[in-house]
Amino acid sequence: MTDFEWTRQQFDLPEGMIYLNGNSLGPMPRASVPAMTSFLNDEWRTELIKGWNTKNWFMQTNTLGDRVGRLVGAAEGTTVVGDTLSIKVFQAVAAGMKMVPDRRVILSDNGNFPTDLYMVEGLMKLRDAGYTLRTPDPEDVMDAITEEVGVVMLTEVDYRTGRRHDMKAVIEKAHALGAVVVWDLAHSAGAVPVDVGGFDTDFAIGCTYKYLNGGPGAPAFIYVAPRLLDTVEPFLSGWYGHEAPFAFDTDYRPMPGKIERMRIGTPSIASFALLSVALDIWDKADMDEVHAKSIELSELFIREVEARCPGLKLVSPRDPAARGSHVSFAFEQGYAAMQALIADNVIGDFRAPDVMRFGITPLFVNEADIIDAVDKLEQILEEERYKDAQFQKRALVT
Ligand SMILES: *Cc1c(COP(=O)(O)O)cnc(C)c1O
Repeated sequence: MTDFEWTRQQFDLPEGMIYLNGNSLGPMPRASVPAMTSFLNDEWRTELIKGWNTKNWFMQTNTLGDRVGRLVGAAEGTTVVGDTLSIKVFQAVAAGMKMVPDRRVILSDNGNFPTDLYMVEGLMKLRDAGYTLRTPDPEDVMDAITEEVGVVMLTEVDYRTGRRHDMKAVIEKAHALGAVVVWDLAHSAGAVPVDVGGFDTDFAIGCTYKYLNGGPGAPAFIYVAPRLLDTVEPFLSGWYGHEAPFAFDTDYRPMPGKIERMRIGTPSIASFALLSVALDIWDKADMDEVHAKSIELSELFIREVEARCPGLKLVSPRDPAARGSHVSFAFEQGYAAMQALIADNVIGDFRAPDVMRFGITPLFVNEADIIDAVDKLEQILEEERYKDAQFQKRALVT
C-alpha cells in the first residue's frame, strides 16, 4: 500500500504553498540537499575522474533508466536516461523513419507539444526526401492511421487538456498497417499506469522533471522494444552508444543488441544524483494506487470548481479514464486569474489561449489542499481580483 502521508513528507514544499504544478516541474525532495552535497563532497571533489568507475557514473544512464522504465512497464535493459526530451524525439523518430524507408508520412496530432512537432519538422528538412507531417485533431488520429503512414508519433496525455490517447488501440492499428509507433510519455510517466512492454510499442520517450520530480532540466528517457535492440539505428551516433567507447576507433559501430546504443554523450551526473533520490520515493509508490488517488482528487477538484466557479469551463475529458493527471479549465481571463491565484500561494499554470491548468499529484497533494485551492479561486473570481493591472502583464514563462 502506498503511504501518501509518508510520500508527502518526503517533499520540501514552501510553508503554505499549494503546489498544483507537479505536472510541469515536480517539487524538491527533502533528500535532494544531502544527495547533492554528498555528490559534491564524496564523489566529484574526492573521486574526480575515478568516479566514472568507483561511483559507477558511466552506467547510471542504465541503472536510472531501469528504475524509470519500471514506472512505465519497461523490462530491464530497455530504457536509458540522458539528453533532453526534444533530442529523444529526434532520435526515436529518425530511427522510426529508417525502419519504414518507403513511406513518407509522419502522423502526429495538433494537440501535441510543439517541440515534438518542431523536432520532426527539422528532421524532415534534414532528410529532404519529400516527407510530410500530418497533424489532425486528436480525436481523428485513429482514422488517420493508414498505409501511407510510416511513423506515428503521439504524446499519450495532451499537455493542455489532459486528454489521453488509447495507446493499445493506436499501436495495434499502426502495427497492423506496417507503421512504427513512438509514444511521448512526458505527461504519463508517474501520472498514469503505462505498459510499454505489454502494448509492444516500438519506442517510448519522456522526461523526468515533471511527475517524476527529478529537478529542473533532469534527463529524458528513451525506451526501445527488445525486439529492435539489435537493429535500431541510433542516428545521433555519439561515443556513448559505441560498441567500445574506450577503443576510440575512428568509425562508429553501435553497441550490439543493447539499449546503450541509444546513449549519445556525457550526461549530467550531478542531475542524476537528484533523479536518484526522487526515484527513491517512487520506489515506495504503486502506480495503480497513485492513479486511483489522482482520480479521487481530480473528481473532487472538478466537482468543487464547477459548483463554485461558474465562469470556468472544463476542457479536460469528464471521464477520468480518458484523462491524465492534470485538469484544465478554460476562462477568458485565465492568465490573470492564474496570476492572482499564484499571488495567493496556489501554484498552477496557464497555457495559451485561455487554459488554466492544475496538476493533481497525489504524492504530495491531498484533499485539504484541493479544497483550500478552490476556496481561494472562488474568492478571486467573486472579487474579480484578476482585473488588477498587476495580474494582466505576461511573464516570459507562463
Ligand atoms: C514537457 C514536454 C516536452 C519538453 O521537452 P524538453 O526537451 O524537455 O524541453 C516535450 N514534449 C512534451 C510532450 C512535453 O510535455
